[in-house]
Amino acid sequence: MSQHRHRFLIAGNWKMNGLESALDTIVIVGDRLAATPPGNASVLICPPATLIAGAARRAGDVLMIGGQDCHAEAEGAHTGDVSARMLADAGARYVIVGHSERRADHGESSQMVRAKADAANAAGLIPIICIGETLAEREANRTLDIVGAQIEHSLPHPGPEIVIAYEPVWAIGTGLTPTSAQIAEVHGFIRDTLTDSWGAEAPSIKILYGGSMKPGNAGEILAVANVDGGLIGGASLEAESFLSIVSAAESQA
Ligand code: PEP
Repeated sequence: MSQHRHRFLIAGNWKMNGLESALDTIVIVGDRLAATPPGNASVLICPPATLIAGAARRAGDVLMIGGQDCHAEAEGAHTGDVSARMLADAGARYVIVGHSERRADHGESSQMVRAKADAANAAGLIPIICIGETLAEREANRTLDIVGAQIEHSLPHPGPEIVIAYEPVWAIGTGLTPTSAQIAEVHGFIRDTLTDSWGAEAPSIKILYGGSMKPGNAGEILAVANVDGGLIGGASLEAESFLSIVSAAESQA
């Protein structure tokens, strides 16, 4: 389909995976992208915080590096946390905020996610703000209510550059994916909701799909209206499968 208004963003989320040796994967992906720069996709990998500086040094000119979370403050007495400014200093360009694993494991509210997104923008990073319903919420026909409330409370006030990732919680790491019609419904709803609050800027906000995206289904998912890219967990850990998803985005052109 040729309805896409701008480049795709193909973003890998390595979660809590990867030791120093995993930088070899960054080099493989970075070198491949530098040799044949995608015309239709920007490409990002978000490794664990320990690898960001090393990854940024080895990624080359095309592959971008991002963080997986940041604290809402720029610095201070927050043992174990990393600020957006620190991520930017290490070479990150983006940061994921509000991933469902952080909302669940660390009790992060949408208000906390908004504060993190604000901190990211203040540090010059682009936040990738994750939203999505649980299986129980979908089965109770509450998907659009949940997603609408998360948009209302997790997004910064209109203005700064942001990316949204719609990630149905039940699709993350499970091998389950929504149908194209279900993805189209939620992405269309997100776009309409953004139009209400962000006005003329809404069409340029990228809305990624995330949840068990892999080489075998990426083409079909990326062809859905209002899908501007993917946030990819498991399939981003291995260079060839991640690069196949980049190729799927390229072939949508
Ligand atoms: C994710 O971590 O955001 C994700 C979508 O994971 P997976 O692709 O493994 O489902």
